[in-house]
Amino acid sequence: MKVLIVGGGIIGLLSALELSQAGCNVTILDKQDFGQAASWAGGGILSPMYPWRYPDAVNQLARFGKSMYQQWQPLLQQATGLDIEINPSGMLILDEADFNTGLGWAAHDHDLQQSAQLLDDSALNSINPRLNPRITQGLWFPQLANIRNPRLLKTLITFLKQQPNVRMQPFTTVQRFEVKNNSIRAVVDEKGTHWQADQYVIATGAWSGLLSEQFEWHIPVKPIQGQMILFKAPAQWLPSMVMHQGIYLIPRLDGHIVCGSSTDDLGFNTDVNSEIGLKLQQTAYQLIPGLQDMPIAHAWAGLRPGVPDGVPYIGKAPPGQSQQLNNLWLNCGHFRNGLVMAPASARLLKQQILGETLMVDEAAYLPANRLS
Ligand SMILES: Cc1cc2nc3c(=O)[nH]c(=O)nc-3n(C[C@H](O)[C@H](O)[C@H](O)COP(=O)(O)OP(=O)(O)OC[C@H]3O[C@@H](n4cnc5c(N)ncnc54)[C@H](O)[C@@H]3O)c2cc1C
Repeated sequence: MKVLIVGGGIIGLLSALELSQAGCNVTILDKQDFGQAASWAGGGILSPMYPWRYPDAVNQLARFGKSMYQQWQPLLQQATGLDIEINPSGMLILDEADFNTGLGWAAHDHDLQQSAQLLDDSALNSINPRLNPRITQGLWFPQLANIRNPRLLKTLITFLKQQPNVRMQPFTTVQRFEVKNNSIRAVVDEKGTHWQADQYVIATGAWSGLLSEQFEWHIPVKPIQGQMILFKAPAQWLPSMVMHQGIYLIPRLDGHIVCGSSTDDLGFNTDVNSEIGLKLQQTAYQLIPGLQDMPIAHAWAGLRPGVPDGVPYIGKAPPGQSQQLNNLWLNCGHFRNGLVMAPASARLLKQQILGETLMVDEAAYLPANRLS
């Protein structure tokens, strides 16, 4: 089976990995180079930030994130020599208002990945001695990890380029789908080139709404900007992730610390705003005073594929009144949790396309149930 995937962020790349490993011939097109958009800009926390604030449909996919990346890691590393750098650092959540809800959620979730403990100041200090000593309580999630997403993308791109049944075509903008007799016959790029396959996948992140404009239904994805700053610290300087009031610090294995993030509806704008950067910096210093001695290495902004409920669209395109497309699939709208939901989203899509047994109930993600 030939599958054409539009969009080479984490969702398109992992979909390509799943489908190519299952024997499909896969082509991926991207309007820029692969893995440069939201998937590069994100933080890589392998959990929703406050999981109890999200619908079950988000957590149902997110809970596979860490373990599926761990399962892919040996194959990818052996073939590419690159490490996707999963850092099992654990996460401290410092928002008092969430302590009881978070504890209750972890107790009832029966998910080992989400066990939680409420710590006092001495326990906090032994977990993370860099924490501001004025902080006296914190909710500790020891199993939570982060992944170094730029390394993950580089590894996936390198691996996919090695596969004889994968073709990767960067700098190719898909402008429309050619439709005949209820089927997509080709995608047409900006040069007028027609790209043909048996099945077609929209995995275009924040741009997915634009690609649905020619159809009778609309994908309500819109870009939501998030800004980040990066500190350079010595390796293992910050022992755990830390989060307070939606601002987080994520230590990488080599010592870099990612701090984010903002959420702003600014259209397709990735300009860095110095006021937002300053706010991130000040919050980081309040949480971890020693960061004032660490240089800021970089600042950037990315566009999350925002959807109203945070639940992605995974499955066959919905039927229109005059047209029932039988070979167009969506895997988009992952909003704030695309890196953690990506492995399960990609596998679910592969299972749907190939008619296999599904790993989870698909109902919550089906475009036919949600788009009009
Ligand atoms: C600041 C920030 C922090 C984040 N932190 C986390 C986190 O800690 N954990 C987590 O799980 N998630 C996080 N996210 C969310 C996560 O990054 C996204 O949900 C995820 O990357 C979306 O992946 P994607 O592949 O759908 O989109 P993208 O990575 O944006 O990829 C879409 C691709 O489609 C291409 N494209 C678009 N239109 C076309 C076209 N017409 N033709 C060809 N190609 C096209 C684009 O060029 C792009 O490469 C964060 C996001 C941001 C911005």
